[in-house]
Amino acid sequence: MSRFINSRLGQLEEYVPGEQPRDMQYIKLNTNEFPYPPAPAVLERINTDEVAALRLYSDPTVRTLREKIAAHYQTSPENVFVGNGSDEVLNFAFLVFGTDGVRFADITYGFYPVFAALYDLPVAIAPLRQDFTVDPADYIGCGQMVVLASPNAPTGLCLQKADVIKILESNPDHVVVIDEAYVDFGAESMVDLTKTHENLLVVSTFSKSRALAGARVGFGIGDAALIRDLNRIKNTTNPYNINRLSMAAAEAAMDSQSYYDEKIRELKSTREHTKESLREMGFFVTDSLANFLFAAHETIGGQALYEALKNRGILVRHFSAPRIDGFVRITIGTPQQMEILLRQIKEILENGG
Ligand SMILES: *Cc1c(COP(=O)(O)O)cnc(C)c1O
Repeated sequence: MSRFINSRLGQLEEYVPGEQPRDMQYIKLNTNEFPYPPAPAVLERINTDEVAALRLYSDPTVRTLREKIAAHYQTSPENVFVGNGSDEVLNFAFLVFGTDGVRFADITYGFYPVFAALYDLPVAIAPLRQDFTVDPADYIGCGQMVVLASPNAPTGLCLQKADVIKILESNPDHVVVIDEAYVDFGAESMVDLTKTHENLLVVSTFSKSRALAGARVGFGIGDAALIRDLNRIKNTTNPYNINRLSMAAAEAAMDSQSYYDEKIRELKSTREHTKESLREMGFFVTDSLANFLFAAHETIGGQALYEALKNRGILVRHFSAPRIDGFVRITIGTPQQMEILLRQIKEILENGG
């Protein structure tokens, strides 16, 4: 740290992403990336012409991509904001809407407390129930910005639409952010509620279900006035926040729905098979509707299982946080990768580590 840094900012805790090993010899099940490549149309679209066009700035209005996203979600382009990853959308939302404080769960996406601290916002932590479900009562009439992930990370559990409506209607003067990064893997989207509830911002991403984590494209859907607020921040920080190649890739991905539908079907079936196999081995596994499983075993701790798997060439995620210390989060890979995972876990349990 330099002696020039703003002293408050110098004390911020940084978000710690999952490992991204440089040698790539691991089976990588630790950061919830899609196990299949982007759609063929994405690969075709990133050609030499597209690269040559990099001398020009990208479209600051992100018009074509917003139109495609709007068409898919049956809304209008003015209801869509595109960010450099959904992390940027969340970042802007905390900055613009969080003044009265933000309320989120004790076990959820680790970036929420980081954004709250960045903007020095009051934080109210609402502990999940014992079974890791959200108690809607914690959010009803709370008078703060609410941030909920559905499916939640790292549990994979979802919100009920009726509960979201209650939370929205009891907090008419505050924005409710529903983070749907994993919604395409089987959960119910709340996007249709953006038409009737001006305080709802649904946030989603191309990183998980569209195989474009490295492109950094996310989006928010909400009332046109909310979207204008987000654009105000974008246009006062980085008007060209989406680069040309990523925009082209995301556009092509939006045109390839049937490819993604098929791969997602495959992934969901792999998830259910893996979940059953883990349960047969004595694991407690949540009923995740995301592209990962959250699992704990009585005879081996989360950290020990993470390390034993890493020694065997498989990366999963372990969080050394209260309540979830005994768990690992396992991204769903290809069927072949999950077979290797299950075989290795079986050996680890038999050998005691
Ligand atoms: C992965 C993830 C994000 C961030 O995704 P990017 O679009 O890659 O920035 C946001 N929210 C949750 C819950 C996530 O798991």
